[in-house]
Amino acid sequence: MATGKINVSVENIFPLIKKFLYSDHEIFLRELVSNATDATLKLKHLTSIGEAKVEYGNPMIEIKVDKEGKKIHVIDQGIGMTEDEVKKYINELAFSGAEEFLNKYEDGAKESGIIGHFGLGFYSAFMVADQVEINTKSFKEDAEAVHWSCDGSPNFTLEPGSRQERGTEIILHIAEDSTEFLEDSRISQLLNKYNKFMPIPIKFGTKTETLPKPEDAKEDDPAPTQEVDNIINNPNPAWTKQPADLEEKDYKEFYRELYPMQFEEPLFNIHLNVDYPFNLTGILYFPKLTNDLNVQKDRIQLYQNQVFVTDNVEGIVPEFLTMLRGVIDSPDIPLNVSRSYLQADGAVKKISSYITRKVADKLNSLFKNNREEFEQKWNDIKIVIEYGMLSEDKFFEKADKFALYPTVDGTYYTFEELQEKIKENQTDKDDKLVVLYASDKVAQHSYIEAAKAKGYEVLLMDSPIIAHLMQKLETSKEKLSFARVDADHLDNLIKKEDAQISKLSDEEKETLKKNLEEVITDKSYTVQLEAMDSDASPFIITEPEFMRRMKE
Ligand code: ADP
Ligand code: MG
Repeated sequence: MATGKINVSVENIFPLIKKFLYSDHEIFLRELVSNATDATLKLKHLTSIGEAKVEYGNPMIEIKVDKEGKKIHVIDQGIGMTEDEVKKYINELAFSGAEEFLNKYEDGAKESGIIGHFGLGFYSAFMVADQVEINTKSFKEDAEAVHWSCDGSPNFTLEPGSRQERGTEIILHIAEDSTEFLEDSRISQLLNKYNKFMPIPIKFGTKTETLPKPEDAKEDDPAPTQEVDNIINNPNPAWTKQPADLEEKDYKEFYRELYPMQFEEPLFNIHLNVDYPFNLTGILYFPKLTNDLNVQKDRIQLYQNQVFVTDNVEGIVPEFLTMLRGVIDSPDIPLNVSRSYLQADGAVKKISSYITRKVADKLNSLFKNNREEFEQKWNDIKIVIEYGMLSEDKFFEKADKFALYPTVDGTYYTFEELQEKIKENQTDKDDKLVVLYASDKVAQHSYIEAAKAKGYEVLLMDSPIIAHLMQKLETSKEKLSFARVDADHLDNLIKKEDAQISKLSDEEKETLKKNLEEVITDKSYTVQLEAMDSDASPFIITEPEFMRRMKE
């Protein structure tokens, strides 16, 4: 018998990594900017603990596109690398310097926001480049500049470099099939998508800024202008701040920043902020929603340490909340290397239930602190709440305290209030509470009036999923049934003692009933003359609740 070791050679694996590791070629820029950010944050950390004796200053990251030379440059003023570090971090595939740094500096460094993780991000450059160069100079005293170059094969060159300043420049020689990335507009688009809220300022070109006119300027003198750095990101987005440091207007401004094309103001926001047992920050917004359940989803953006990951938050955010907007940032959401797919696991479930609880608590406090405002907003938010009550039992329990049931006259009851209101008057023979409702105030007008004349409360329930919600309420509450105001239930209610006496004799009633029944051919309807007790309608025609539900 022979035993042996399978020989994995880099020659075989390298092309695979290039081809399959990242499905999306465009993420190369995110990875390089992440590395540049990490290099800068590391320097920040090292200067703050006194280990790096250099001036940290106001470092920025610069992206340059050289269309003629077919090159993209990513330049930072971070820690740089010595020759040994290039050998260790760059030449060794899948060795993450970011992870090593975090392990070495432990707790303090965890707060630093370092992004890297798998030690593979750098190689994503070869998805779009057929040659990559590194010019780097370490912050360390007497460090020599280093130049590294590689054409995508496992062969590289390493030699003394010419870089004068601390930091690193990565040069991508863009491959023939990737020239789209030599367009300024494409790079702008990528920076805007992935790097808009990264923590170190990112410069991409310059822009013209208009200055105020000097006092002695004539009216049609053009305002003076100047060229300034075009910084594409906001390094301190609202969600990274403490809720106590933010005002209502800051939340609205941030919403505008996130959704520049959205002109409607959000109804309210929920600031998420946990650090135990997992780390998660973010701001969710309740937009004005219509009754259309097919509203566009995927509007909550997921970030990790301020780097955009995806706007498909399926699994992290419970389904019913995907109608919200906003940002979630968590370094603890387990992503695979390509960061595009979430691994469904316990941590994610915990995050999802945390978000559900937070949203429920916020709604509850809105309801408690300002009921009037809550009632005004109800119509715009009910679809999310009702959907949540249907799909998540935990949410149902909490929402049951603040979910509102409006009457046809515009009074809003919680379920408990409604119960209190109707328990004397609206029960049937089996002592079941009967909640009457209408779905169309105009079409059901006469039935509504008849019911009101008897002193009954009639709810207006017109959400698209209301039939399901009623069923849910019927099964989760004891002795409760819903009946549409034009269904036959009205008849079965225990009547108020002071019901009016009909003006017709029993005989007259019988004749009238017979005549009416002859005209109505559909046998599932019943003619009721009780309504004649009121002045509202001479009689009503009802259909059994179950027949009606069957037809829906
Ligand atoms: P990761 O970021 O997950 O550690 P990468 O493949 O993206 O893995 O990068 C590998 C390592 O190379 C980094 O951890 C870092 O040590 C080093 N590195 C990459 N880019 C830079 C840079 N711009 N400045 C300094 N070091 C860098
Ligand atoms: Mg990286």
